[in-house]
Amino acid sequence: MNNARVYNFAAGPSVLPLSVLEQAGAEITNYRGSGMSVMEMSHRSKVFMEIFQETQDKLRRLMNIPQNYRILFLQTGASGQFSAIPLNLIGATGKADYAVTGNFSNLACQEAAKYGKISLACDTGDRNHCYIPRQEALKLDPEASYFYYCANNTIYGTEWDYIPETGDVPLVCDMSSDILSMPVDVSRFGLIYAGAQKNMAPAGLTVVIIRDGLAGHELPFTPLMMNYQTMIDKDSMYNTPPCWCIYMLGLTLDWVAENGGPEGMERLKWQRANLLYEVLDSSRLFTCHADKGSRSGMNVTFRTGDEALDAKFVKEATEAGFVNLKGHRKTGGMRASIYNAMPVEGVEKLCEFILEFDKNH
Ligand SMILES: *Cc1c(COP(=O)(O)O)cnc(C)c1O
Repeated sequence: MNNARVYNFAAGPSVLPLSVLEQAGAEITNYRGSGMSVMEMSHRSKVFMEIFQETQDKLRRLMNIPQNYRILFLQTGASGQFSAIPLNLIGATGKADYAVTGNFSNLACQEAAKYGKISLACDTGDRNHCYIPRQEALKLDPEASYFYYCANNTIYGTEWDYIPETGDVPLVCDMSSDILSMPVDVSRFGLIYAGAQKNMAPAGLTVVIIRDGLAGHELPFTPLMMNYQTMIDKDSMYNTPPCWCIYMLGLTLDWVAENGGPEGMERLKWQRANLLYEVLDSSRLFTCHADKGSRSGMNVTFRTGDEALDAKFVKEATEAGFVNLKGHRKTGGMRASIYNAMPVEGVEKLCEFILEFDKNH
């Protein structure tokens, strides 16, 4: 590892594989003999169209996305989808089910309420979102246009360990912070989306994977740029797509493939997360925010119970080269985001640091 680099536990934008950054660096002024940077290319040029198509193909292969799904490369962040999803999908019956298990599903739910009748399938706010409800606890409306949930709750550090069963109601899932961290049966979903800046690429790109037949029923006032059917018809190129981010996604997908694909990512994910959870569970000082059985493999939230001590931990960790460990203000304490690109070694060293801190306090 480049010794000037730190172990970056940021929740997003977050660590990217070093080899991806190095390749991007090597190609930054002259992409493979084109004489220019990817940042300088026309999005309609042959060379960029190839990058675009290859990146789509790689994602389809890696995630095993069936042929009856479109892959869209969009902008306006994951949050843009909080609006786009109801605008495009709620018209079917005027109703939708939302599982609120954290900050982002709550925001999505509030946004959707502008456009239709929303039912809460669950709300884990009763215990500050420290758990994921079991299937039996979900309140389902068979007439919902879709069922919405967030697979991994980035702020609270919980992650669904199952795909909800919703019968004929299409499943819509925000996978921003755990996409490509495990194999996923895409055919179970109507729509999957993810902001790129957690596990895939720099900020500025949102990937949407949508089953054929769902788009095209948008509410009449849907903004042009949020209309899935327009973006499907124009292959995400109604306007200039986020070209650089798409290129970076392509490099990251190569890296994922070289490291065992989603299966390999899943092994590494739990290798990293279990190291941390074991150390935290065995310590006298630290407690985890999330219940056992609901814990995230991507964002590990923990605290000492003493704010001053938490601050001391974050400060000393930063000095030791473990940065961005301060928890979100909604949970307090600490959060270690350990996405795909975090080396296991980074977590091993953080564990040593935690053990030492525990011993000294
Ligand atoms: C970060 C995050 C978002 C918001 O992403 P933006 O691209 O900043 O809008 C939404 N959902 C989840 C699960 C996230 O982790």
